Amino acid sequence: MRLVDIGVNLMSRQFEGDRDEVLQRARQAGVERMVLTGTDLRSSEAAAEAARRAGQGVELWSTAGVHPHHASDFDDATAARLRELHREGRVVAVGECGLDYNRNFSPREAQLAAFEAQLGLAAEAGLPVFLHQRDAHDEFLAVLRNAWPSLARGAVVHCFTEGPEAAADYLELGCHLGITGWVCDERRGGDLRRAVAEIPADRLLLETDAPYLLPRNLDPRPASRRNEPRHLPAVLAAVAALRGETPGAVAAAAWEATHAVFGLEPA
Ligand SMILES: [Zn+2]
Repeated sequence: MRLVDIGVNLMSRQFEGDRDEVLQRARQAGVERMVLTGTDLRSSEAAAEAARRAGQGVELWSTAGVHPHHASDFDDATAARLRELHREGRVVAVGECGLDYNRNFSPREAQLAAFEAQLGLAAEAGLPVFLHQRDAHDEFLAVLRNAWPSLARGAVVHCFTEGPEAAADYLELGCHLGITGWVCDERRGGDLRRAVAEIPADRLLLETDAPYLLPRNLDPRPASRRNEPRHLPAVLAAVAALRGETPGAVAAAAWEATHAVFGLEPA
């Protein structure tokens, strides 16, 4: 069974000491391909560099963009450097970008401006957008809907955590949905667990969002709370159980859908 993790924050400080081992362990768990997440200019550049070098038998691609937490740092110079990154062959999406009204680390006006600017960059580059949304569904959907006709390559709503209604909004628009270990949490993940069975197989993508969101159903529990891409099979198992499908069928469909939306070259 081949797995592709569409959301790995490999350039995070938390992986500073053992990136190669993290990739090796992922490979041993069947994770053959990854899309590394860029969350600011520094991590976008580092992820693009890592994707060029690849490593440990895992094929890597990356996204380049500015997360809403860092939206205050987004300016014309950022856009210019992102434009260059978006022309690199292994940079396959613009983002992550979007709105996060949960923590508001950047003011909402700055988040909106950076989000709209990056939707423009995606249209310009002819790339899909890799989206982050938290506690901002209505406004986020309105902005995205506005931009949609210009987004020829569509969008991935990464780390989708909401229920069937929000899922239907995104699916109707044409988005793909990234499912993380949030789905393994029976307490917090109830809404998402109800939504997962409703997502068409060709729109459902799998991700760990490592080092965040360690799945709660790991057995044995790892000593560290740090999540790794090697735990993607736990996300897969939860998704398959909720859909009443085999892990093999879900993995194969997610592999196809991932290749289609990001335009990855076939294995
Ligand atoms: Zn995110």
